[in-house]
Amino acid sequence: MLKTAPDKYQDIRDAVRALCAGFPDEYHRRIDAQRGYPEEFVDALTKAGWLAALIPQEYGGSGLGLAEASVIMEEINRSGGNSGACHGQMYNMGTLLRHGSDAQKQACLPRIASGELRLQSMGVTEPSTGSDTTRIRTTAVRQGDRYVVNGQKVWISRVQHSDLMILLARTTPLDEVRKKSEGMSIFLVDLRDAIGKGLTVRPIPNMVNHETNELFFENLEVPAANLIGEEGRGFKYILDGLNAERTLIAAECIGDGYWFIDRVTKYVNERVVFGRPIGQNQGVQFPIAEAYIELEAANLMRWKACELFDAQQPCGAQANMAKHLAATASWQAANACLQFHGGFGFADEYDVERKFRETRLYQVAPISTNLVLAYVAEHLLGLPRSY
Ligand SMILES: Cc1cc2nc3c(=O)[nH]c(=O)nc-3n(C[C@H](O)[C@H](O)[C@H](O)COP(=O)(O)OP(=O)(O)OC[C@H]3O[C@@H](n4cnc5c(N)ncnc54)[C@H](O)[C@@H]3O)c2cc1C
Repeated sequence: MLKTAPDKYQDIRDAVRALCAGFPDEYHRRIDAQRGYPEEFVDALTKAGWLAALIPQEYGGSGLGLAEASVIMEEINRSGGNSGACHGQMYNMGTLLRHGSDAQKQACLPRIASGELRLQSMGVTEPSTGSDTTRIRTTAVRQGDRYVVNGQKVWISRVQHSDLMILLARTTPLDEVRKKSEGMSIFLVDLRDAIGKGLTVRPIPNMVNHETNELFFENLEVPAANLIGEEGRGFKYILDGLNAERTLIAAECIGDGYWFIDRVTKYVNERVVFGRPIGQNQGVQFPIAEAYIELEAANLMRWKACELFDAQQPCGAQANMAKHLAATASWQAANACLQFHGGFGFADEYDVERKFRETRLYQVAPISTNLVLAYVAEHLLGLPRSY
């Protein structure tokens, strides 16, 4: 394995690597070919407590920081696995932890920590509004002791492998609020009660083996007790959780990037063409070296984002920039890895094409590259808002 600078998280790295070693390339390749869910892998991670890293100890988690959590995600991807199957279980509960009532937290967090309950899904994106979240059309209307939800969501991941979902819906019409970010609320939806009783789930076959769905809400009743925090403040609550999500995704991309660099350096050292290893050619070395440099730089921004988050300092800029740098670097590494495997890069058995598809997603989700650039332009450079 590629040598990287030692850090203080070696114990976590060793333990996660040991677990992941039980799930070799063949396992992930088979699940990908079947478009299946890596149930045994996710169970093993859950039982070992890794997905409960961010849950405080008083609720049965390990109460670790974002830095440690990010190492767990990085190592999963570096091992050849894909955290996308389960990363929601690690960070979606943050919304509940920060904004839920004591009763909600007591009822859910210990059971999420033990894995008895999965909170792997978050329903925000809608087909007609895309990145323009404040214009969502899904509504939740209070009727007595419940809310009635109508509308549609798209690209909502892991619904079939989750018991609970955080749902963002409009509770006050857009034309009745002062600011368009107001008037939205978040709910904890019990998927076991909802599916077939107002919620229809339609899977979206897609390029990656990433379980994701269209959701249709038709008079779905959600108990008013499942409102998280105050009505109307849901958009702010969701935003609060995004910095953790973006930083963890950055770490996953860094794990992917190291995986690509590991594989490609090994391959180009061994593959002999024109009587010498292809890795002896500068035309082969330089793109790999460049991807590695970008990856190391992205890693520094990831640590900065973790440090600020764990110190409860504002970290929106660093989380966005870390995600952008890491997604770009892993994609660069993926391209070099595929290119220098020649035809073999396209063969399933090398796993390069699978990881190539997986890491490509992070240019688009959970936030697209352009939207990160627009954030930096507006919030860091003081340029006029462009959208
Ligand atoms: C596999 C997968 C899993 C996902 N899982 C979830 C999930 O669990 N929950 C959830 O809520 N969502 C999920 N998403 C949705 C994801 O967050 C969105 O796809 C993403 O935010 C982009 O939104 P959009 O697809 O509607 O693209 P659009 O908003 O339609 O944008 C399309 C393109 O136009 C560009 N663009 C749009 N506006 C501007 C602008 N003002 N300036 C410059 N460029 C612009 C974007 O950068 C993008 O490249 C998932 C998506 C995928 C593909």
